[in-house]
Amino acid sequence: AEHAAFAESGADLELVGIQKRFPGFTAIEELDLTIPAGSFFALLGPSGCGKTTTLRLVAGLEDPTAGRILIGGTDVSGLKPHKRPVNTVFQSYALFPHMSVLENVAFGLRRRRIGDPVGKAHEALRLVELDHVADRKPAQLSGGQQQRVALARAVVNRPALLLLDEPLGALDLKLRRQMQQELKQIQQEVGLTFLHVTHDQEEAMTMADTVAVMNKGRIEQMGAPEELYELPRTVFVANFLGQSNLFAVEVAGGTEQVLHTDFGGSRISVPRARSVRDSGAITVGVRPEKLHLSLAEPPAAADTNVIGPGRITDVSFIGVSTQYTVEVPGAGPVQVFAQNLQAGPQAALGDEAWLSWHTEHTFGLADDRL
Ligand code: ATP
Repeated sequence: AEHAAFAESGADLELVGIQKRFPGFTAIEELDLTIPAGSFFALLGPSGCGKTTTLRLVAGLEDPTAGRILIGGTDVSGLKPHKRPVNTVFQSYALFPHMSVLENVAFGLRRRRIGDPVGKAHEALRLVELDHVADRKPAQLSGGQQQRVALARAVVNRPALLLLDEPLGALDLKLRRQMQQELKQIQQEVGLTFLHVTHDQEEAMTMADTVAVMNKGRIEQMGAPEELYELPRTVFVANFLGQSNLFAVEVAGGTEQVLHTDFGGSRISVPRARSVRDSGAITVGVRPEKLHLSLAEPPAAADTNVIGPGRITDVSFIGVSTQYTVEVPGAGPVQVFAQNLQAGPQAALGDEAWLSWHTEHTFGLADDRL
């Protein structure tokens, strides 16, 4: 704690009523967010949704048009970037090419006159398992190693909050998946608060405790990865996180537990607890891997939704699964992912097929049209 700005552990981050307007464009409509200390939080969304702007506001590189930013309960809104207990890791590593790996990591400590910069830099390099290349120049390292040096440099002064802006974006897919595991482990070891920005849903889901899905300058939904996947609340979230089959239906009664909906003559039931609205026109959905494909009409059962018959218009063998597209009259193309527990696909192109799933797996969305 040589420098007041740097904490021994992570701090929580609060964004209160944040809005950001650029001349002629509102990048952030309204943002309220609390990230608990020590958590790994991912901001996930498509290009242009306002993720980077959010990070830049927290880092102090932009000023909000409205709202307040609190780190560890302290309002940092008026503070210059270097006065905030925050470091950022970008997609471009921005290492100094003429300095050794060790000096790159120790640089910020020296500039701030923090004690034992060399000892601390070695410690940070051990954390990312690169202490054995401390004397090399950045150009003598692989892309993944350079990114780990950038990470060591960002955590060496123990910022209360680490901002990561697509830090793995420049890496190839395999290295990226490996670094995701490593980043997560490092975050758990150091216990700092991580705010990670990405457009890669798999990346957000693998690493974060909590994911906020952002769209057009707003958070659409926020929760644990499993929760967002199992219970998306909007069409955007249902489609952005994995794939969904969505059906426009009309609520037509129900029981205490489930809503019955009218879907072109057949019925799709959705648990009330899994539906956002309980009357009128709604959208219901089910994930492709929850569907069961049958070549004969399955027997009716109270806890099962059945639609069909449709026609199989595509069969793709993926290895672990076979993905079918079934054209169901009134529903359009429906995706089915069937695990290949036996050898070979069970159904063929052009076959007539019914689709069924446990009522439990249906979710209802707030949107009244697709
Ligand atoms: P990406 O993943 O492509 O970086 P993002 O979600 O990080 O996207 P932002 O960089 O936050 O998006 O940008 C959000 C929106 O604000 C974009 O439409 C962008 O064009 C706009 N924007 C960003 N900075 C400025 C600026 N200085 N002036 C005007 N518009 C801006």
